Amino acid sequence: MKAPCHQDCRHYIPIDVFHGLCRVKPDEPISDAEACERFFPVKKCKYCTSYQGSDGEMGTCGGKIPAYPDMIAKTCEDFLWEVPPDE
Ligand code: SF4
Repeated sequence: MKAPCHQDCRHYIPIDVFHGLCRVKPDEPISDAEACERFFPVKKCKYCTSYQGSDGEMGTCGGKIPAYPDMIAKTCEDFLWEVPPDE
């Protein structure tokens, strides 16, 4: 799996498709670069045990339903962290 970037982080606030702000580091410029040491993952399909797919490509949920790796899974009742984040 690719290294997480700011857009994969719960602290990221999108402004538009390309730009955003960080809640915990508001003075730092945000780009699509790798996440920092304060990274905390947002629920996305690529972090779920049911997601099957390769880096950046369209995958599937459980091998059945098409799913994008970056799809937000906040409301999915079946979401299960592949690697649970430290709270
Ligand atoms: S906490 Fe770090 S990874 Fe998360 S949005 Fe802020 S700068 Fe990016």
